[in-house]
Amino acid sequence: MKILVIGSGGREHALVWKIAKSPKCEKVYCAPGNGGISQSAELVNIKADDINGLLDFAKSKNIDLTVVGPEGPLAAGIVDLFENNGMTIFGPSKALAALEGSKVFSKELMRRMGVPTADFRIFDKSEDALEYLDTRKAPVVVKADGLCAGKGVVVAKTIEEAKMAVRMMMVDKMFGDAGSKIIIEDCLAGEEASIIVISDGKTIVPLASSQDHKRIFDGDKGPNTGGMGAYSPAPVVTDEIFKKVMDTVIRPVIQGLAKEGSLYKGVLYAGIMLTMDGPKALEFNVRFGDPETQAIMPRLKSDLVDCMYRAAKGELGLYALEWDKRPCVSVVIASGGYPGKYDKGVEIKGIDEVRKMKDVVIFHAGTRQGRRATDGKDTYITNGGRVLNVTALGSGIAEAIDNCYEAVGRIQFERQHFRRDIGYRALKA
Ligand code: AMP
Repeated sequence: MKILVIGSGGREHALVWKIAKSPKCEKVYCAPGNGGISQSAELVNIKADDINGLLDFAKSKNIDLTVVGPEGPLAAGIVDLFENNGMTIFGPSKALAALEGSKVFSKELMRRMGVPTADFRIFDKSEDALEYLDTRKAPVVVKADGLCAGKGVVVAKTIEEAKMAVRMMMVDKMFGDAGSKIIIEDCLAGEEASIIVISDGKTIVPLASSQDHKRIFDGDKGPNTGGMGAYSPAPVVTDEIFKKVMDTVIRPVIQGLAKEGSLYKGVLYAGIMLTMDGPKALEFNVRFGDPETQAIMPRLKSDLVDCMYRAAKGELGLYALEWDKRPCVSVVIASGGYPGKYDKGVEIKGIDEVRKMKDVVIFHAGTRQGRRATDGKDTYITNGGRVLNVTALGSGIAEAIDNCYEAVGRIQFERQHFRRDIGYRALKA
């Protein structure tokens, strides 16, 4: 099979790495990819949001399966476009990608399907939202409807802070149209975990559980980032909790949509808060998580290509994935300045040495290939905020953490930084 992967981050490198191992895979392309991805895929210089350019490319190469990494092309309707042109593509339609692209769509769907989630109200006028807040107690959560690059959710500790969020979204229009509708919802307390499944709209195939670390500093402090590390499995997701999430969140959504005549094909990612009253859904994403995928793929023993192809064709039938029991930890090494304005163009040292380590793999998130100024040799150069996902398996979580940090210690580039406590919640459990 010829396979095209769309995207350029650590998630896409993990997908390409796994796809390239499939006996069904003859050739992998990645658009636009990154320096590390070029180890296992031919890079194609087309941006992820150029969906017409991607279609022309896929047709010209007779691509058998296209896999979409980021949400942008899904929200733009790449699946509808490819399918209308007779191409096989793994992902949900534009209409269903709204599960991630519109929080209003997602919360209304949860209510319709009886999925446990925080109680909420939807507003399209700032005056109504502000008036409603006068009747509420803090903490309270204010969410912009549309995609805001991860900045559209404010967990407000006071009503005044919540009102500021409403004004920022609806009056000052900080996120443009994405804030023309907002949600005000109850604040949930508990630990968060992700349950990610693959579906063809009928059969549901769960992936191993995982947890990520979103904050920049150790101890989950400081501003949010795209994710500083992840591990799989998440010990908080016991068999009982897993079953409950499948029964109350995942199955009601996929079966409920099927009953309404919409088959959900692709990845469904549920962000879950494990509250005292049981698991509640915080959000849905319509694609693989980043950096969760980097911690999940090394544990997957089965053929991902076969699974995604059958899902895309609506032919999963009875399907289960087989997992390596060993835990996996993935640590992000970031550029100086990240998550603010960050450095680029710095040489990375130590990658070849780490490549020789057993049960360790580096997924590149923001690198490009370049030439060393001193001797003209090929090397890797930083090209993003999150640069590398150093990933390791271990016989237990403690060993996986040790292996991972031993590898991290061998990588060097100027002003690099990383968290030193990835996996600590799993270790405590
Ligand atoms: P979302 O994009 O809806 O998942 O929100 C992003 C993050 O905000 C989540 O991962 C939670 O940490 C937090 N969050 C969202 N909704 C709530 C809520 N109702 N209660 C507490 N925290 C929340």
